[in-house]
Amino acid sequence: MRGWEELERDCKNCRRCVLYETRKNVVFGVGDRSAKILFVGEGPGEQEDLTGEPFVGRAGQLLDDMMHMIGLDRERVYIANIVKCRPPKNRDPLEVEQDACIDYLREQTALLRPEIIVCLGRISAMKLIKPDFKITREHGAWFDKGGVKMMAIYHPAALLRDPRKRPETFEDLKRLQQAARELCPGSIVEPY
Ligand code: URA
Repeated sequence: MRGWEELERDCKNCRRCVLYETRKNVVFGVGDRSAKILFVGEGPGEQEDLTGEPFVGRAGQLLDDMMHMIGLDRERVYIANIVKCRPPKNRDPLEVEQDACIDYLREQTALLRPEIIVCLGRISAMKLIKPDFKITREHGAWFDKGGVKMMAIYHPAALLRDPRKRPETFEDLKRLQQAARELCPGSIVEPY
């Protein structure tokens, strides 16, 4: 298995799908490479493509706020996406693009060995939890995959579009916090 440095270098030179033709930067992932909690989004948007960092636009600001509510932050978790290059005009990544890219996330996950994976939105949940995942019905529910606890929550961009979903998401975040307290208490800052 490749180490982090080699994996990142190979990913940044990737030409496995057409998205390499239009990308400005590959968005490999950020955070603590020994984190026990992994957040997985869908794919980079414009700001992420420009900076090479996941979740730095408006949705990213909201993700930071959501993490802070439960004692997490970017330095205590790892954040990555299903596809590492921006789909033009922010369309959903195609199945072929997801399939071309997914091995990078698999290797990132194998290196991290997280206790908890949080899927941000439907696309990530369908790829990582199950193909028929229904985000409206199944957000906040725990799934076990090979001993890893997995949950999907609404994508922060969906919460920006529809703030009525925020109270349910807050409940989901509290469930995440509870699991983090049990499984990896060092990951969260407790109020004092
Ligand atoms: N949306 C995502 O799914 N990922 C990002 O990195 C940014 C926005």
